[in-house]
Amino acid sequence: MNNTPTIAKESENCPMMPDFVPAAESLSKPEFHCHFCGSSKLTPAFTFPDWLKRATQIYLCRECSCLIPCYDLDASRPAVLRLQTEFWEAQWPDLTIAEAERLAVDCAGIANYYAPWLKAEGGLLLEIGAGRGGLMEALRRQGFTVMGCEPAVRLAELARNAFGFDEKTLHLAEAEVFLKRLCIARQRAQAVFLWHVLEHIPEPYSLLRRVAGILNDGGFLIGQVPLLDRDYIYEAHLVFLNEPAFHHAALKCGFTVEQFNYDINNRFMGFVLKKAVARRSPFEIELPPII
Ligand SMILES: [Zn+2]
Repeated sequence: MNNTPTIAKESENCPMMPDFVPAAESLSKPEFHCHFCGSSKLTPAFTFPDWLKRATQIYLCRECSCLIPCYDLDASRPAVLRLQTEFWEAQWPDLTIAEAERLAVDCAGIANYYAPWLKAEGGLLLEIGAGRGGLMEALRRQGFTVMGCEPAVRLAELARNAFGFDEKTLHLAEAEVFLKRLCIARQRAQAVFLWHVLEHIPEPYSLLRRVAGILNDGGFLIGQVPLLDRDYIYEAHLVFLNEPAFHHAALKCGFTVEQFNYDINNRFMGFVLKKAVARRSPFEIELPPII
């Protein structure tokens, strides 16, 4: 087991994971879909206390195996984006020079850990959901060319002010808009970081496919997500992922699984997915165009 260096975006000093409580038999199937793979094949699994110790029904997706807390919220994409940006802007209203430096130094541990996947000479690295820019800065300090996007206005401002990113380096944009811009500019990346992002995005498979499209052959998608823990059960966290869920996503979105790692102290899970090589069937025949 590897110890992944961690930036504590979540609260620390969490209590131990409480015992599971069996789900009530009478709970009916929810009207929502899996927030990860989009399937409607959901089963009530158990109840679990959230960060305010309120009993929360947890559903299991029988398609991808992720766990989905049932919150009373509008899970449409605009509503979730608004909820997420307001949450993080409230969480991080300011960033002093000393805090920015500490953030970049802490993030250097992430860059060091994932260095074996970042060796390509001249390769572009992307961070989607760059927050206050600490990881982008840590990667830049190690000599990499980096670009990123952040949809929360305040966080993008903090990152640009703290680390001097211009608007072409750190885009104030949602992930899909950012990736479309790069695609139009015919830019390709050696690695894409999704650091504590996937648990915040409803049905991210289209994003994952777009990431696969922007990666060089053999490029990597790298990230971290929270494990199921009561301190992490709040409305900003739509899903709790696990190894089967990543295998499902990899298969459906054009990746192979390269590595999983766990930060048990913080109850985080890291992942590295490799862009799958498109294989042609030996039975495919190249036919001339019909004129
Ligand atoms: Zn699912």
